[in-house]
Amino acid sequence: DRAPIKTALLSVSDKTGLADLGKALSDRGVQLLSTGGTAKALRDAGLAVTDVSEITGFPEMMDGRVKTLHPRVHGGLLALRDNADHVDSMKAHGIEAIDLLVVNLYPFEETVAAGADYDDCIENIDIGGPAMIRAAAKNHQFVNVVVDVEDYRPLLAELDANDGHTTLAFRKTLAQVAYARTATYDAAVSTWLAGALEMEAPRRRAFAGTLAQTLRYGENPHQKAAFYTDGTARPGVATAKQWQGKELSYNNINDTDAAFELVAEFDPANGPACAIIKHANPCGVAQGASLADAYGRAFDCDRTSAFGGIIALNRKLDKATAEEITKIFTEVVIAPDADDDAREVFAAKKNLRLLTTGGLPDVLATATTYRQVAGGLLVQDKDNGHISLDDLKVVTKRAPSDQELSDLLFAWKVAKHVKSNAIVYVKDGATVGVGAGQMSRVDSTRIAARKAQDMAEVLGLDAPLTQGSVVASDAFFPFADGLVTAAEAGATAIIQPGGSMRDNEVIEAADKAGLAMVFTGMRHFRH
Ligand code: 5GP
Repeated sequence: DRAPIKTALLSVSDKTGLADLGKALSDRGVQLLSTGGTAKALRDAGLAVTDVSEITGFPEMMDGRVKTLHPRVHGGLLALRDNADHVDSMKAHGIEAIDLLVVNLYPFEETVAAGADYDDCIENIDIGGPAMIRAAAKNHQFVNVVVDVEDYRPLLAELDANDGHTTLAFRKTLAQVAYARTATYDAAVSTWLAGALEMEAPRRRAFAGTLAQTLRYGENPHQKAAFYTDGTARPGVATAKQWQGKELSYNNINDTDAAFELVAEFDPANGPACAIIKHANPCGVAQGASLADAYGRAFDCDRTSAFGGIIALNRKLDKATAEEITKIFTEVVIAPDADDDAREVFAAKKNLRLLTTGGLPDVLATATTYRQVAGGLLVQDKDNGHISLDDLKVVTKRAPSDQELSDLLFAWKVAKHVKSNAIVYVKDGATVGVGAGQMSRVDSTRIAARKAQDMAEVLGLDAPLTQGSVVASDAFFPFADGLVTAAEAGATAIIQPGGSMRDNEVIEAADKAGLAMVFTGMRHFRH
């Protein structure tokens, strides 16, 4: 199953490492064929190259749209070397075998990411490159195909280990990578077109991903896992720089994402904010006078759960905050940036991972989320729903005070990031009780209040912080019981979507308890 490499066709947009590869192949007696720009680069490096146009008898034409689309190229890639018929055809039509194809495609994804106009994007759709890649990959029984610069070295190592040949296993692996490349490339084109056509639900949808990290395991140790990135430049866990600590795990990546997306709800211009996440749910979120203060207030929501948590900050990590954070065990800290002296504080904690992102994501930006179900994928817009003061409808006799209003909006932002049924108690810009993921809304309301009571004991307070707090509910109260529970815990104001059949009962109960209640008209389920 070993095959020699005698002739190579190189046609690359990204010329990184090209000269070295060309030289290494040439030194091993490989004949080089190439297209315009690639041939020039190879000649500039002092190498002998045959132009593809010489082989095809056609000049490259139509702005490079037609360069290699010719039977002398595709026949050379596709011919079965051990098939008499194929060999006869090669002889009859003057087709020379091509044993190695090195192609990297026109930078379509980069062109789109750079915000290029329609015509520019169209011109960056590579046609001949993918055609050759697919041909060579199909014929991997004889032909090698390299589509990544990072595979140049392994290719040379394989040749050296096999006396100028490659093994079938090696060529199969190259073919697998090659088809993944053409698939992701076409997925990028299709996704771009769907966007350009403003299609909400394209009839067919292609998915693209590039391996960023093989994970030690998935949610549990018996599950294999890997992290694929989609190439978008959005600040977040996928694009962050990791300064220290061991590799992120599957659960770390999931929780860090949840933490950072939540803290990004809080514009740094309105003050520092901190979110602490456990199992994808916040166990404390707060704004503060300083970043350290915001962290401390978030921590005080649920000190027990915060242990081993993941912390997201909406501003540059400073030394004071770093010192507070290192007082207990934390898995990951993610922030737009970090001061040098803050990093020094962290350096002493070898297991603590620090990630910086260079900025916060725009939470109002549109994006798509995917969830797998048996036999398919559920695709939806990311929940970028946003409420401002003008959207609120006061439904009770008493209207909320300014302080209550500000806390209600804070609680609403947090509730959006809590698994349903979500109940969030907030006081003075800090969560004081979070009820997440319960199957009944009244249970979430009770659990959050009970946790606040527990914290009152830990903090040595006379009364739980839910006294005089406000409450957000991610969806309407189907009955008055949840609202009554919140009132009993000391809440004075409620924010919820409204829209229940029993809204009147709920409003009546609120009036009876002297609560102020506002409807948002928008729901934030999160399952
Ligand atoms: P060069 O820099 O050598 O002029 O062009 C290299 C690029 O051309 C590679 O990215 C390769 O995929 C692409 N390419 C090769 N043949 C064709 C073709 O026939 N049509 C188009 N559109 N692109 C091609």
